Amino acid sequence: MAAVTLKNVVKRFGGFQIIHGADIDVNDGEFVVFVGPSGCGKSTLLRMIAGLEDISGGEIAIGGKVVNDVEPADRGIAMVFQSYALYPHMSVEQNLSFGLRMNGNPKADTERRVKRASEILRIAELMKRRPRQLSGGQRQRVAIGRAIVREPQVFLFDEPLSNLDAELRVQMRVEISRLHKELGVTMIYVTHDQTEAMTLADRIVVLRDGYVEQIGRPLDLYSDPDNQFVAGFVGSPKMNFIKARVLGHSASGVTVELAGGTRLTQPLNGPVPEPGSKVVVGVRPEHFGHAGKGDADLSVTIDVVEHLGGTSFLYTRTAAGDDIVIQRDAAEVPDAPEITVSIRKSYLFDDNGRRLR
Ligand code: ATP
Repeated sequence: MAAVTLKNVVKRFGGFQIIHGADIDVNDGEFVVFVGPSGCGKSTLLRMIAGLEDISGGEIAIGGKVVNDVEPADRGIAMVFQSYALYPHMSVEQNLSFGLRMNGNPKADTERRVKRASEILRIAELMKRRPRQLSGGQRQRVAIGRAIVREPQVFLFDEPLSNLDAELRVQMRVEISRLHKELGVTMIYVTHDQTEAMTLADRIVVLRDGYVEQIGRPLDLYSDPDNQFVAGFVGSPKMNFIKARVLGHSASGVTVELAGGTRLTQPLNGPVPEPGSKVVVGVRPEHFGHAGKGDADLSVTIDVVEHLGGTSFLYTRTAAGDDIVIQRDAAEVPDAPEITVSIRKSYLFDDNGRRLR
């Protein structure tokens, strides 16, 4: 087991800077997910930890030892990729044992490790099959098995589930969580899927354009995002963002007015923005209630209703043209298209997307 520490890690490709001084501490035995949109640099960060990519500045340590100049094979890590990269002409058993056999690992120990991996992943009955005789999920299990037999200090996963269909992805997600509990080792997992990040991670690192935007536990990021980007990235359907303007402040907080005239007052601990300045009000779909006493009430027109069983999502528009998604219990979906809802909880962001608290 081992902690992984990144200190001011920088990556340049040619003259172009991709990672801008990342500081990330992954604790021993922790499951950390790097998440962010395509091109934000999450695979590059993972590849630098693996040693598959040089770092242009800063320091990476695994288990307290700086590994900047340590070969990938000597870092005590094992990586699982999106493409399973199994050898098609070998059986599952041979695929699992291949790396150990190549390294001259003693036969009895190799057999022990392969048996253990096959039991952990419940693939013992597949050992004689070739990859083409396996389902996608089974292939991914074998790919993970190849990492397990190496008995690494740290597992690195690069979008391992993106080739699987939706149902299998959910199933494998649970398997990977179980694997983490069972092995208790440090795992770092890259995905662009915020649901995967929310469900798997002890802590999430949210990246954008090569910058770390926020690091935190899933529910903390959800309920207490530092900025509009994190607020919009974590949660599905997304947080709604509504343009507004500061009217003024009083003892109860800052009052803002949304296009359309809805007023909202919210306490602020930090600096209060000038009256007249532009802000963004963020409201999660589940934070709309039934219309209240006028303040923070918003009139919308329902365009589409999505019934998911227990809950429904109302896709609506305000008179000012803002698109708003509202979550409701299935039994509470109104018949009329014109409704008024109250904003029960909201977040404020300044013009640059910084959270106003
Ligand atoms: P995705 O989810 O699409 O895989 P990512 O967040 O993993 O994206 P990276 O693959 O790490 O992103 O890429 C980060 C940035 O670095 C991108 O702009 C990409 O074009 C660039 N990049 C990656 N590898 C190289 C390379 N070998 N040479 C030049 N630029 C590269």
